[in-house]
Amino acid sequence: MIDHPFLGNAPKQLFIGGQWRDAASGETFDCINPSDASVLVKVARGGAADIDAAVAVARTAFDSAWRDWKPLDRQSLLLAVLARIEARFDDLARLETLDMGAPIARTSTFRRWIRQTFQYYAAQALSTRGDVMSNSVPGDFMSYSLKVPLGVVGAIIPWNGPLITQLWSICPVLATGCTLVLKPAEEAPLSALMMAEILQEAGVPDGVVNVVPGPGATAGAALAAHTGIDKITFTGSTATGRKIIEASASNIKRVSVELGGKSPDIVFDDVDLEAAARGAAMACFNNTGQICYAGTRLFVQRGIYDRFVEAVAEVGRSLRVGHSLDPDTQVGPLASRAQLDKVESYFDVARADGARIVSGGERLQGALGTGFFVTPTVIANAHNDMRIAREEIFGPVVTAIPFDDESEVVKLANDTVYGLGGGVWSRDVGRVHRVARDLRCGMTWANCYGVTDPGVTFTGAKQSGYGNKGGPWHLDEYLLNKTVWLNLA
Ligand code: ADP
Repeated sequence: MIDHPFLGNAPKQLFIGGQWRDAASGETFDCINPSDASVLVKVARGGAADIDAAVAVARTAFDSAWRDWKPLDRQSLLLAVLARIEARFDDLARLETLDMGAPIARTSTFRRWIRQTFQYYAAQALSTRGDVMSNSVPGDFMSYSLKVPLGVVGAIIPWNGPLITQLWSICPVLATGCTLVLKPAEEAPLSALMMAEILQEAGVPDGVVNVVPGPGATAGAALAAHTGIDKITFTGSTATGRKIIEASASNIKRVSVELGGKSPDIVFDDVDLEAAARGAAMACFNNTGQICYAGTRLFVQRGIYDRFVEAVAEVGRSLRVGHSLDPDTQVGPLASRAQLDKVESYFDVARADGARIVSGGERLQGALGTGFFVTPTVIANAHNDMRIAREEIFGPVVTAIPFDDESEVVKLANDTVYGLGGGVWSRDVGRVHRVARDLRCGMTWANCYGVTDPGVTFTGAKQSGYGNKGGPWHLDEYLLNKTVWLNLA
């Protein structure tokens, strides 16, 4: 049994209206530690009835005095939540590590990210504003826009980074006066449940944030289709995102979806080879490849292809794969057995399609054999039409594809249904700007990869979704931009 203050023998319950309760069905599910497949704790399995209950209390909370809290009070609340998180941060990071397998060295770095996120939204809470719009109607009329909180928000988040992704809805909700029903993934619900406890300790009013773990097909589908919510925000796969968009039609609720990717990372032959190889490797191997914007299609200019591929493979070989709680671990397990099976199946797909596995490509055996570990994998002899270059694998698997010139590689890079991230490595400033402009994706990184900040928009294009997270426009998605006409005569 793992010793953690949030875990115990009793099943973890749903958090609805400031109270902990069992699922209406009485059912629970096992929460698994991906490092050794042991059961961490049982968790109440929320279903449609629990979603109904949570939406009802979220509506009541929205219609309460909460909606009229002053901006300064919202700011103070966000900072109070931050203080509580900081006081319990080590436990929170450890819980996330146990639950979804990200190495403790990685989750420990979230301290800075979380602080910046709350500080940013605390500032944003003071800065919402409408505009006076000029009009030309006869008479004497004034017209202006007024930003009011949108209402009850549903958030469905994935298992690959729940501690981070939950903040993308919790912070804007607290900053604007909306209320929230949060459904974490079954694979990793624990940090959201502990966050519920923290929010309550910090003084977030009951019913403002409700957390209902449960299966996507039941709890998630019920939330997406619910006519009692005004907005749904979803982070996850493109296939499920499509269902969310369809379900949102029930009451024309607002939707934002951040979905899958197969992001290109383009390396020209004028780079500092060692630095770029390290960057390109970590663009894919970070978080065991379970990042939506991971740079999984590595395009390398032909003159340096063999050397560069070998350098990336060498970085992969040098990374320490291990138990997520081991402080020296750089690559943890995949988050679930299903994900392990999926990633392993792509090793066979790669071989069958004639690609060459340069490094990795296997499940870890021995002491770590009970966990869901694969080795960082580099695949060469690949082209952009192969399944390994078209389908999102969501594991530490990078597919290296050679190219000859800039216009060719931009076409290849854009030849995908996805459009989340993109990377370009070159010392030629003009080329960097041209490629950054011409890649059809929401975010491009030049001579770096995967840099994010709460103050900078995170967004996608094509089938990677739409909506802004972070940055100056995020709060607009939680506000109704009302028009008011006033007859001054
Ligand atoms: P994966 O297939 O990798 O688990 P998903 O996109 O299916 O990724 O999961 C992301 C989130 O979406 C999870 O919280 C999951 O429970 C939820 N989900 C899955 N299917 C549905 C659905 N049909 N409707 C609503 N939410 C869903």
